[in-house]
Amino acid sequence: MHQDDCIFCKISRHEIPASIVAESATLVAFHDVNPMAPTHILVVPKEHVASVNDLDGTHASLVGDMVLMAKDLAKEQGVDVDGFRLVLNTGPQAGQSVFHIHMHLLGGRVMGWPPG
Ligand code: AMP
Repeated sequence: MHQDDCIFCKISRHEIPASIVAESATLVAFHDVNPMAPTHILVVPKEHVASVNDLDGTHASLVGDMVLMAKDLAKEQGVDVDGFRLVLNTGPQAGQSVFHIHMHLLGGRVMGWPPG
């Protein structure tokens, strides 16, 4: 299912443009429009799920596939060896701004800890 007013549903359905770097039957990955690191890619399921809070057991393989796609992209982008970060911002306090679940792949620079 998709939501008509959801920007990531529209990208996953190729209804609006994005810089797509990978696609499968269930996922799409594209460059973040406002990158926070030299490599900043979003891995997004085509199914509309608002956030981690809305995942259940039926999404187990989908979530696994998100991590595996991110891992392959990290290697493709050359950030696998030096290190990268996978982030799922969930809810307002964590800074989630798009309520269609997405995994950030961030790499290409030193990351601080704890995150802001
Ligand atoms: P979050 O704050 O975790 O919800 O992340 C949402 C991310 O989506 C932000 O990093 C935005 O820069 C990014 N974003 C929003 N609209 C687009 C778009 N049309 N294409 C690519 N990235 C986008």
